[in-house]
Amino acid sequence: MKGRNYAAGREKIAALTFDDGPNTSITPLVLEKLLKYNIIGSFFAVGSNINSESEQIMKNVFRAGCEIGNHSFAHADMTKLTAEEIKKDIAETSRRIAAFTGSFPAFFRPPYIAVNDIMFENTDLPFIAGIGANDWESEVSAEERARLILDQVKDGDIILLHDMENNYATVEALDIIIPEMLGRGFGFATVSQLFEAKGIQPRRGIVYSNALQTSIY
Ligand SMILES: [Zn+2]
Repeated sequence: MKGRNYAAGREKIAALTFDDGPNTSITPLVLEKLLKYNIIGSFFAVGSNINSESEQIMKNVFRAGCEIGNHSFAHADMTKLTAEEIKKDIAETSRRIAAFTGSFPAFFRPPYIAVNDIMFENTDLPFIAGIGANDWESEVSAEERARLILDQVKDGDIILLHDMENNYATVEALDIIIPEMLGRGFGFATVSQLFEAKGIQPRRGIVYSNALQTSIY
């Protein structure tokens, strides 16, 4: 298992994931919360956000043992793109991630979780979705976000939140979600560690919200 195993000895395992960064406002605050509880998570980066301004936080996230996944370059609905456009978009994002971390991403999260066969056929990375909390809607409070996650989370789940600009309510929600889940016996792993812990080799044609899932959604 790559990196430190923060889920060892825990009864249940889940993976916290954060989309639409990196940025210098919310991404550092999310990382701070993970460090506060001595856990790790995964960040699905948008390629166009990876630049000299976000370089340091990308490196900090990676050095903390977190995983960085690919969330496309332009955050477009990729079901509208050609095979060549899809390949180029994903490859450029992976290249930028590797340029700052030295490590190529192992997972892809499709923007809007919109997928089609052309995307599956032209992407080598397994597709990841997750259980969510409508945390891109400003009217959903931190308490509500936490409740939406805590009401549904189970062993093997991938939790989909956003470290997008101004998303302070999700940072706040982590102070409810993480301690409550630790109390319920959950450990937190990166997405890679989650699959490894469950003995699952992720397959093409599935959009995983849980490592044990066997149908497309
Ligand atoms: Zn997104």
